[in-house]
Amino acid sequence: MAQDNLTAILYGINDIRLEQTPIEEPGDNEVLIKMACVGICGSDVHYLVNGKIGDFVVRKPMIIGHEAAGVVAKLGKGVKHLKVGDRVAIEPGVPCRFCKFCKEGRYNLCKEMVFCATPPVHGNLRRYYKHAADFCFKLPDDVSLEEGALMEPLSVGVHACKRANIGIESSVLILGAGPIGLVSLLTAKAMGARKVIILDLVQERLEVAKKLGADETLVINREKCNETEITKKIHDLLGEEPDKTIDATGAQSMIRLAILATRSGGVAVLVGMGAPEVQIPLFDALSREVDIRGVFRYVNDYADALNLLATKKIDVTPLITHHFNIEDTVAAFDAAKSGQTDVIKVMIHCK
Ligand SMILES: [Zn+2]
Ligand SMILES: [Zn+2]
Repeated sequence: MAQDNLTAILYGINDIRLEQTPIEEPGDNEVLIKMACVGICGSDVHYLVNGKIGDFVVRKPMIIGHEAAGVVAKLGKGVKHLKVGDRVAIEPGVPCRFCKFCKEGRYNLCKEMVFCATPPVHGNLRRYYKHAADFCFKLPDDVSLEEGALMEPLSVGVHACKRANIGIESSVLILGAGPIGLVSLLTAKAMGARKVIILDLVQERLEVAKKLGADETLVINREKCNETEITKKIHDLLGEEPDKTIDATGAQSMIRLAILATRSGGVAVLVGMGAPEVQIPLFDALSREVDIRGVFRYVNDYADALNLLATKKIDVTPLITHHFNIEDTVAAFDAAKSGQTDVIKVMIHCK
């Protein structure tokens, strides 16, 4: 086996270095994976620029990357459902499997969760990486490794739409047309949503949203963000008040809008992570029985995400706007953090 294991390590704020690390041996029920693609996530950029997200602080050098797919290179003991050469998508969080949350099937809430590139856990932007075999999903021949890597953000969209109970009767408002807003749009449409409107600050992103099936789009201006006016515009464009709203921004103004614009008795789902505390119109929510629901990553959603791709109900490939090789990781992160309007998903290739 090749000894080259080039690895992208986050040393501190705006300090990513490429170094060789030892190739790990897969333990029982683990597989060694020859990494193929790793997408850059908003959270990766956050750790790079701010050194932390909430309570998760990068205190020691950490290998970055968690939206990944690769090819099985070696099997640990006990692995039966995979073989060497299988192409797999990697679900990056492995829970304890023993606690109440795990037993109840809500393992995303497990307190012992080991999640790639969430400090202090190392991520998988390297040439070789080992992972729990039951959190690797074999890709059918017609699903690419790039799509496999995109299953990570797609699973967030699937989980958000499930939390919102989206169905054929739903009219949906999505706030934010970044990767998570866009995969939520794709999933909502695939789950049969009657009508979807999506909002963003950037017109280019809304053009992508239109191509991906948005029924209506609305560009808003950060300076002139009058929530009463925007709420009215949303209702006018949609022809009704949305039953379900998904906030994929985490911005206070958008969380407020998620509550204000949702119809009485509807659901506002909060996916975006922003400031730890925000001011919301609580009386409006409680007096109109708008349910506010949190979304944390995903749980049992990878198989559904894969099914959506395999059956061609969803095409996530238009989200990938930039490609880099692992040797150019620093440039890849420069593009991801640039704030350029044409950047949606940056994909790093590990071969
Ligand atoms: Zn991610
Ligand atoms: Zn657990």
